Amino acid sequence: MPQRLYLASPSRLYAFQSCPRAYRFGYLDRPRPQARPQRAHTSVGLSVHNVLRDFWDLPADKRTPQGVREALRAAWIPVGFRDDGQSARWRQKVTEEVIDYLRGIDRDAEPRGIERTVSLRTDVLGLTGRVDRIDERGEELVIVDYKTSRRPLHPDSARTSLALAFYAAAASRLLRRPCFEVELHHIPSGEVIRHRHTAESLDRKLAEADSIARDARRADQRYADLGPDAPDFAPTPSALCRWCDYRAHCPEGQREGPEQSDWAALEPDERS
Ligand code: SF4
Repeated sequence: MPQRLYLASPSRLYAFQSCPRAYRFGYLDRPRPQARPQRAHTSVGLSVHNVLRDFWDLPADKRTPQGVREALRAAWIPVGFRDDGQSARWRQKVTEEVIDYLRGIDRDAEPRGIERTVSLRTDVLGLTGRVDRIDERGEELVIVDYKTSRRPLHPDSARTSLALAFYAAAASRLLRRPCFEVELHHIPSGEVIRHRHTAESLDRKLAEADSIARDARRADQRYADLGPDAPDFAPTPSALCRWCDYRAHCPEGQREGPEQSDWAALEPDERS
C-alpha cells in the first residue's frame, strides 16, 4: 500500500531528530503539555525578524536609522526579560545592531521574497517552511536566513543546514530560477556564512530529510496505535534539557541540572 506523505516543517524534523520525547510533547500529545513561558532571547529574535520583514514595506525615505528605531520601538516584545530596565537596554543594543546590519545591504534592491512560504514534495515528505529573505542576484536566487543568537555561527553551519538546502530547492521550483547559494546573516556581528550547493548536494540533503521523515512517520503511526506508551519517544537527556520548553514534564531532563533563567541566553553578564 502506498504510504501517506509525512507533512512537516524543518522545525518538526529537527525536533524529532534532537529529542523524540520533546517531539511527542510538542507535536503529538493532545492536549499539548503546557510549554514554559517565552524566553528573552526568543523575544529578541522575533522582534528583529519582524523589523527586518517590515523594513521593506517602509517608504524609501523611511529606510533610515531613525525609521529602524521607530520600527523596533513598535515591534519590541518585552517578554522574558529580568525587568523593564533589562528589556530597555536590550532594545537599545539590538536597535543599533540592526541599523549596523542594514548599513551593509543595498536598501534599494527589493528582495524577491520576504518571509515567503515555500513547499516541496518528495516520495516520502511534504515539507513546508518560511524563508526569511530570497534575494535575486543575476540569474540566480539566494536564500538568506537571519540569526540572532548571541553565540558566533559555526563556519560550517550554512553547508550543513537541512532547512537552508530545502529552502533553496523549494524556492528554485516555486520561482523557476536556479538557487544554489545559501547564507546565514548573523545580525549581532554582521557576519555572513555562505555555502554554494550543487544539484547533487541539494539532493543529498533532501534524502537526509526523507530518512528522518520515514522514522518520524513510523513513530507517529506507533503513537496512533499505542498512545504515549509507544517506545519510539525515549528522552535524550543532554545539556539542552536546561533550556527545554517541556522540561517540567520530563523527569529525565530535570536531572540534567537546574533550569536556565529566562534571560540566560543573553550575554554572560546578564545571566544572574
Ligand atoms: S527535558 Fe531533555 S530529555 Fe526531556 S523532553 Fe526536553 S530535551 Fe528531551
